[in-house]
Amino acid sequence: MVSQAGQGVMISQLIENNRRWAEERSRQDPDYFPRLSRQQAPEYLWIGCADSRVPANEIVNLDPGELFVHRNVANLVVSSDLNCLSVLQFAVEVLKVRHVIVCGHYGCGGVRAAMEKKQFGLIDNWLWPLRSLHARHQEELQNLNNEDARVDRLCELNVMSQALNVARTPIIQNAWHRRQSVKVHSWIYGLKNGLVTDLGVSFDGQERLPEADRLDPA
Ligand code: ZN
Repeated sequence: MVSQAGQGVMISQLIENNRRWAEERSRQDPDYFPRLSRQQAPEYLWIGCADSRVPANEIVNLDPGELFVHRNVANLVVSSDLNCLSVLQFAVEVLKVRHVIVCGHYGCGGVRAAMEKKQFGLIDNWLWPLRSLHARHQEELQNLNNEDARVDRLCELNVMSQALNVARTPIIQNAWHRRQSVKVHSWIYGLKNGLVTDLGVSFDGQERLPEADRLDPA
């Protein structure tokens, strides 16, 4: 056992956990680490929330080497975020992933914080795009009868909005211009049941983008 909910774990235990994990992997497949160390060839890029309850590989049962991962608070894709864009560029242009999955989750603390009038500090700047999204959908959200439902709906709207942001980037549009196959998906994960739902908003070519977002080839 790694830990039990609500109990702290000695930091030295983590190293011990790691030794056992590495031994077990090598025992099952002696070429496992040598093979992974030579190359990675994931077909998927995951852009998800940093929340500790949403472990990307585990949720979709993929091994190391199979999923390229970028996580930040509230799974935002912002055009000034060099970290996220660098990950996206490497994944698309070097690894040539075939799918980019933006996966949010219900009950997201970042989304909830962006709906409050209270200030939280530095994070308010990061969550700014969510405030704008909240404002744009205020009418729809006000019609929902409780706070949790409003948070969950904004979580869904956020995922779809971030998937569009991925698809709008020159990185993705240039891949399409090169006839490289890459599809952007919007998924949401349920903390209460462990299930992923495909929100059905996906982008696999420029024709799916709003006219104003389409870029000519460079
Ligand atoms: Zn979250």
